[in-house]
Amino acid sequence: NTPVITIDGPAGSGKGTIAQRIAKEMGWTILDSGALYRLVAFAAIQNACSFDDEVGLAEIARNLPVTFEAQDNNIVLALLDGVDVSQSIRSEKAGDAASKVAAVISVREALLQRQRDFAQLPGLVADGRDMGTVVFPNATLKIYLTASAEVRAQRRLKQLKDHELNDNLASLISDIQERDARDMNRKHSPLRPAKDAHEIDTSDLSIEEVVAKILSFYKS
Ligand code: C5P
Repeated sequence: NTPVITIDGPAGSGKGTIAQRIAKEMGWTILDSGALYRLVAFAAIQNACSFDDEVGLAEIARNLPVTFEAQDNNIVLALLDGVDVSQSIRSEKAGDAASKVAAVISVREALLQRQRDFAQLPGLVADGRDMGTVVFPNATLKIYLTASAEVRAQRRLKQLKDHELNDNLASLISDIQERDARDMNRKHSPLRPAKDAHEIDTSDLSIEEVVAKILSFYKS
């Protein structure tokens, strides 16, 4: 039985960074499930598949020619058909497109087993929206991260700058709120904490403090 730590929460709550740090501490692999939804949206646009075409989207999700390649610096590259698209899928526009295809049930179903296959020894840290509720309901430890909309937008802005993508704070706040509303209000696998998740508000905590909290939950 592979140990799994799930880390769910809205955009900019710190999931990605925290998941990477926990994976490093534990020596475990990581599943960035958001990247899968971003890749489906990216491939749909590339193949001129409309976001209204549920059958076409599901087919793309099922056959997604993706490989993840871990780099020494702990960064994981996403390759689509062998081409590194990691930068292209990081924009807020790509996140918004991802949240549209993520509302399609057949897309979610097509990605389910692919996500579960990431659970391999010695362990997995899974980052997303429904890791604790749907994909890994029997996870060893479930975390739900939150932060104020302002803080989340600031973090996203910094991340985008790190990727040399530009945006402004006001439009980011409204984009993020719109995306969260879509993720929380969709019919299938809406964003919400699992009943047995530990909720952590990261607004006023450092990365180290959040990591320490999660590790202490795991050890207790
Ligand atoms: O986490 P990230 O910002 O990369 O996720 C992009 C979008 O993918 C989210 O807004 C959400 O709609 C969708 N997603 C999802 N379920 C997951 C992970 C991401 O629906 N487990």
